[in-house]
Amino acid sequence: MIRLAKPNIDERDCAAAVEVLKSGYLVQGPRVAAFEDSLLAMTRAPHAAAVSNCTAALHISLAAIGVGPGDIVICPAYSWLSTANVIELCGAHVEFIDIDPHHFSIDSNHLEKRLKSLMSVGESARRVKAIFVVHPFGYLADMKPLLEIAGRYDLPLIEDAACALGAERDGIAAGGAGVMGCYSFHPRKIATMGEGGAIVSRTPELMRVLKALRNHGLDPEADSPDFILPGFNYRLTEMQAAIGVEQLKKLPEMLATRRKLAARYNELLSGIVEPQHVDSPSFTTWQTYTVKLPVDSVDQRDRVMAYLREREVQTTIGTYHMPMTSYFRSRYGFNTGDFPNTDDVFARTIALPLHEELTEHELSIVKDTLIEALKAAN
Ligand SMILES: *Cc1c(COP(=O)(O)O)cnc(C)c1O
Repeated sequence: MIRLAKPNIDERDCAAAVEVLKSGYLVQGPRVAAFEDSLLAMTRAPHAAAVSNCTAALHISLAAIGVGPGDIVICPAYSWLSTANVIELCGAHVEFIDIDPHHFSIDSNHLEKRLKSLMSVGESARRVKAIFVVHPFGYLADMKPLLEIAGRYDLPLIEDAACALGAERDGIAAGGAGVMGCYSFHPRKIATMGEGGAIVSRTPELMRVLKALRNHGLDPEADSPDFILPGFNYRLTEMQAAIGVEQLKKLPEMLATRRKLAARYNELLSGIVEPQHVDSPSFTTWQTYTVKLPVDSVDQRDRVMAYLREREVQTTIGTYHMPMTSYFRSRYGFNTGDFPNTDDVFARTIALPLHEELTEHELSIVKDTLIEALKAAN
């Protein structure tokens, strides 16, 4: 079986976790602080808080700026469900925006148009509270136009950089351009400790609130315990943080390997399928290597995936068309055609195996099997 993904866990990761277990200090202590320091070095953000997963990070990003019932938060249509779910969980309205058909991130022209109309009416203008930007499959969205639009309307831009830790553009790390940036360390991401997340921010006031929100409302700056708001328990364990420190040490190496493998895939698959457009290798982590199949038919995608599965090549769809999932479709009444780029990308995109142990031989098996699958599906 050629696996879609494979966590990169070695003896040092194991030893780090065992050492913590024997230490008797298991939750949010010195290893969490060390993990946050590693993250700051990597992202060059001034403040970081480790949390239990990226969904928790996204949730407290909205809670920290007071998003609540009646508010509106902008969100791209194509992402893992967390991005939209946390908006709903705050009681706010999700304003989905279509994506760019080549890079799959929020389309700045669509964003601009929608904001212009929302902000021209006093009632809705008062309700819009934030913009989520997702870096799909680790590809860092072009932040310049997005920051310009957000700045014009004085709206905080929050980065869902779940897959993008280590990507960089114009000297700025993924997660570091917005008011807040959120990361995931789930096994399907590149650096992992089973579950895990983090949030970075440029403003110390915001970080104080974020740290209180992750820990029952406890003021992170008070000398004797004081509670400044109703918080969650979104803490990370010391075992996870100790593994996280080891994972971040080898992340640059993992990224270099993935970039090499993705470049090789691009060569092998040229003219057969269309890989996600990447303007420069450093812009992405290749958390997932996705390709668009040549004919736009959902049937074909599923048949191609079934063919590959039968021949022991593991694949999956890219990510989700959130407005067309049962919950959002029935709650908001969306139809096919409301987000045409997302319709097409969702219907035609599959993720191919990519992990650091993949060999040249396996890459060519994936290529040959994909060619056969495309023939068989037609
Ligand atoms: C994985 C992922 C998340 C959720 O991360 P968890 O750590 O599993 O909560 C959120 N957004 C995106 C874009 C993701 O890929």
